[in-house]
Amino acid sequence: MGQGGNIGDTAQLIGCPVCDELHQLSRPDEGHRALCRCCGTVLITSRDRAGINILALSVAVMVLVIAATIFPFLSIDAAGIANRVSLWDVATSFRSGLLVLVSVATVLLIVLVPLMRTALLVYVIAPLEFDRPPLPRARGAFRTAQALRPWAMTEVFSIGCAVALVKVSDLAHLEFGPAFWMFSVLSLIVVVADRYLCSWSIWTALEEAEPT
Ligand SMILES: [Zn+2]
Repeated sequence: MGQGGNIGDTAQLIGCPVCDELHQLSRPDEGHRALCRCCGTVLITSRDRAGINILALSVAVMVLVIAATIFPFLSIDAAGIANRVSLWDVATSFRSGLLVLVSVATVLLIVLVPLMRTALLVYVIAPLEFDRPPLPRARGAFRTAQALRPWAMTEVFSIGCAVALVKVSDLAHLEFGPAFWMFSVLSLIVVVADRYLCSWSIWTALEEAEPT
């Protein structure tokens, strides 16, 4: 299922966001997905209760991002000196030089962008889910949320930290704090939430609720 057919004259078309191939619009059955016939990109996902699931997962992401920033990320024990640091401690410990850029980038990509993106998604999806008219500038908010997707790097960060910590584990005794596990859970939630997120469904719902 799910592949576009021949392109008809009056048919509604859907374009692949990756390869620009045009497909005739056909809504997939419940629980199925429509894929691009050229590159396999998911064009439409049809899932019951997708909206409410995205809302629940978005709230979980926001709580976890904030908690994971404040709780200790790891404790390090070398030559009898023990220390526990949170992501916030690390990000705010550099006040001059090139490392300030690293701190700013870390806070931006790991904390602020994921927070902003989930907040925008809640802003757009919550009214649709509860049969209310979309909030002002909902289209712009959704476009921004989609544009921010590649810049939310929580999962990249978690994997990078795991690799780096394994490499330094010979030099010092390291223990993961609660924040590390929160970031691991976060990475999974972000992937699951993105599987529920069907931009075609949201654009269609926005259009039906507020025709131009
Ligand atoms: Zn494609």
